[in-house]
Amino acid sequence: MGSIRADGIQAGRLTPADYEANFSDIHAPLSKHEAIVESERCYFCHDAPCQTACPTSIDIPLFIREIATGNDLGAAETILSANIMGGMCARVCPTETLCEEACVREHAEGKPVKIGLLQRHATDELMASGKQPFKRAPSTGKKVAVIGGGPAGLACAHKLAELGHAVTIFESKDKLGGLNEYGIAAYKSTHDFAQREVDFILSIGGIEVKTKHALGCNIDIGVLRKEFDAVFVGVGLSGVNKLGLEGEESLSGVIDAVHYIAELRQAKDLSKLPVGRNVVVIGGGMTAIDAAVQSKKLGAENVTVVYRRGQPDMKASAYEQEVAQTNGVTLKTFAQPAALLGEGGKVSAVRFDETDHVSGRLTTTGGHYTLPADMVLTAIGQLFVPDGLGGADALALEAGRIKVDAERRTSVKGIWAGGDCVADGQDLTVAAVEDGKQAALSIHHALNS
Ligand SMILES: Cc1cc2nc3c(=O)[nH]c(=O)nc-3n(C[C@H](O)[C@H](O)[C@H](O)COP(=O)(O)OP(=O)(O)OC[C@H]3O[C@@H](n4cnc5c(N)ncnc54)[C@H](O)[C@@H]3O)c2cc1C
Ligand code: SF4
Repeated sequence: MGSIRADGIQAGRLTPADYEANFSDIHAPLSKHEAIVESERCYFCHDAPCQTACPTSIDIPLFIREIATGNDLGAAETILSANIMGGMCARVCPTETLCEEACVREHAEGKPVKIGLLQRHATDELMASGKQPFKRAPSTGKKVAVIGGGPAGLACAHKLAELGHAVTIFESKDKLGGLNEYGIAAYKSTHDFAQREVDFILSIGGIEVKTKHALGCNIDIGVLRKEFDAVFVGVGLSGVNKLGLEGEESLSGVIDAVHYIAELRQAKDLSKLPVGRNVVVIGGGMTAIDAAVQSKKLGAENVTVVYRRGQPDMKASAYEQEVAQTNGVTLKTFAQPAALLGEGGKVSAVRFDETDHVSGRLTTTGGHYTLPADMVLTAIGQLFVPDGLGGADALALEAGRIKVDAERRTSVKGIWAGGDCVADGQDLTVAAVEDGKQAALSIHHALNS
């Protein structure tokens, strides 16, 4: 299938009913009655800590009160005015480390108000109504180019369109949505939600979309700067880190996890997607966990995530780790890959060196073990690829990503940036949306002064 190297790896390990069940919504949505009952658990706190913990500062007590009084569409408008991707964020935010961790009911009784599910309830009601609650301001006559149609670019485009500017999104792929479309685990975003949300965002009007337009290929940032009044760069991270081991490029079955997940998300028929019998996933972040859980859900027999440090150091939250374990994934810590072993051009096992923290440094201990593997998914981090941002218009970088100030202005006048491609990013959908929104407000201010 597609472009993954999986010679001889079996597909169709499950029945159609198994695929259907395994890839259905991980959390069932609340019914109207359940939403009202849950909303009544909220204390409607003054200076609400949940709101402070939300990167987009959604007025959580207000929207929960609106749900409690039966005003679901008003609640949705409250959410979306702060976060236009409130529907996707309700599905993918690690609420257990953001708003719900901060909820006073979490501290008092270990049972936070289900803010994420309430947010989903309100935004789903609005999307089902077909209404677009935001109106465009009269045209300002200004034009803004947005490069990259992921969460950062879409949030920026929507806010600029609302403020009356004419926006053109240049997107390299043939669909908008970024990792919402190609990366988020399939069981978090079901029934083509990512594309439905894109359609909702574009329905405000004033946004032209040019897909298959890639910065560094058929568009040039210098030209865009001349043709548009402002430019926003939200190109995410298009590279991945390599293990640096022999066989990584040549052995079939060694696949980068982001690529594998993208194939899974675009698969029309999951029974056609090859998945190993013994899958080894290398890494400790959300991508590693999502790749592991989805491999298990595709019918792999043994799935092991191997991470070089301890469980508390993993970038995947404790909740994500628990999801992996309850889905039958084995987590092994304190080991790093030392060699990829192969037979007949296909991967057959991975040898690991055991590690430990010694005097604050991670070192190998001399111990090692080998895990059989017919599929190895590598998930050791993504990289910013500065294609098309060099030359006379070079943007300053910091720690390998674009340097921006608090308003998301880059080092080059007239160019803003946000989302995963900027330094200090949190690599979360909600943080990318906030970047896009803040950049749009800053662009609006600059174009009006
Ligand atoms: C596997 C995986 C699972 C994840 N799961 C979660 C999760 O559960 N919850 C969560 O909060 N976050 C999750 N994240 C992180 C989240 O998806 C990102 O933080 C978020 O998508 C960043 O948005 P962005 O707009 O900056 O970048 P992206 O979503 O990457 O969008 C960038 C867009 O720019 C386009 N582009 C790239 N290069 C060019 C170019 N040269 N010219 C034009 N267009 C270009 C891309 O095609 C893409 O559409 C996950 C990430 C991965 C990889
Ligand atoms: S902290 Fe919890 S109880 Fe207080 S407003 Fe937020 S959701 Fe409601």
